[in-house]
Formats: sequence, structure tokens, C-alpha cells
Amino acid sequence: MASPDTVLSSQPTPAKSKVLPPLINIKPVNWFFDFNRAMSLWPVTFGLACCAIEMMAVSMARFDIARFGAEVFRPSIRQADLMMVTGTVSKKMAPSVVRLYEQMPAPKYVLACGNCAISGGPFKFDGQYGIVEGVDKLIPVDVYVPGCPPRPEAILEGVFTIQEKILGFRFWPKAEEIPSDGPLAIQS
Ligand code: SF4
Repeated sequence: MASPDTVLSSQPTPAKSKVLPPLINIKPVNWFFDFNRAMSLWPVTFGLACCAIEMMAVSMARFDIARFGAEVFRPSIRQADLMMVTGTVSKKMAPSVVRLYEQMPAPKYVLACGNCAISGGPFKFDGQYGIVEGVDKLIPVDVYVPGCPPRPEAILEGVFTIQEKILGFRFWPKAEEIPSDGPLAIQS
């Protein structure tokens, strides 16, 4: 059996996931399926660290991800098509993340939520040995949502971006920008 030191110093193995082309490839049919997929994403109930709290907040009444069709969090990866990687990916956890991704049915989408999932976040420093510096070293990521942690609105925006990638256009209206000299501007 490998010693703990060997496990930590070795690099985790990335996912091998081969997706076959669809059997039916007719544009209006694909568009119909894609529209339904985008408007009914099923995220997996899966959190690695503090960013998962923001994912939970997204599903509660104030932010209410149900308004956008993505509230059916699945405890089984085999029933999910969206993996939100919320938190620090340790090398010890990496094989499980890869296995879960490989068990998801295609088409599947990955949202890297927070700086830890994107790059290792505050745990990336010279000499660190236990953290994967970005989940995209293990599995393909579709959308990155930066922040430590990202706000729930940012996670929602990430979900909208995945929907946009599936559909080819943005379905939801964009929020108006707050003018920098407006009433909510930060007073120095
Ligand atoms: S990015 Fe920040 S909030 Fe998110 S898991 Fe890492 S340390 Fe926690």
C-alpha cells in the first residue's frame, strides 16, 4: 500500500470521459432537447468547503434558484447533469471528484465555484502539498465563478452562463449596472 507521503506528493489522475455523438442529430430536435436541458439543470448535492454554504444559499428563498429551473439537487450523481465544485479540492478528495464526474450521464456541465476550485485560492502557496490547484486539472470546467466565496448572485450568473452555452444565447435579462456615482456608491 502506498504511504500517505507518496499519495500526497503524486499528482491526481484526471478524468477520462468519452462522450459519444447523439444518435439523432436533427437541428430542431437538438434545439428542443437543449432548451429543456438548459431550463431544467439538475445539480448534484455536493460541496467540498465553505463555498458550499453559498450554493445552499442559492437554493433558499432569498435567491431561489428554482426560479431558473435548477433547484432539483440530486443526491445521486447518476441523476445529475450539473456539478458545482464548491470548495477546496484536496489531493485526497481528487479521486472521488473524478469518479463522480465520470459517473455523471452526458451531456454534463461543471461550474467551478470560488477561488479554491479555480486555482487553489488561499491555499495555493509555495511548498503546499495537499491541494489541487484548480479542479480543471482533473475534470473539464465549463464556467468559472471567482470569489472567496462568490456571492449567491454570482453563482446564479454562472448558472445563466451555462444555460447560455447550452442554448447559444442568453435567456434571462441582464441586471442593470449600478452607476459608480449612484446612490449606492461607496463613500470614501
Ligand atoms: S474560495 Fe474561499 S470561501 Fe470558497 S472554499 Fe475556498 S476559502 Fe472557502
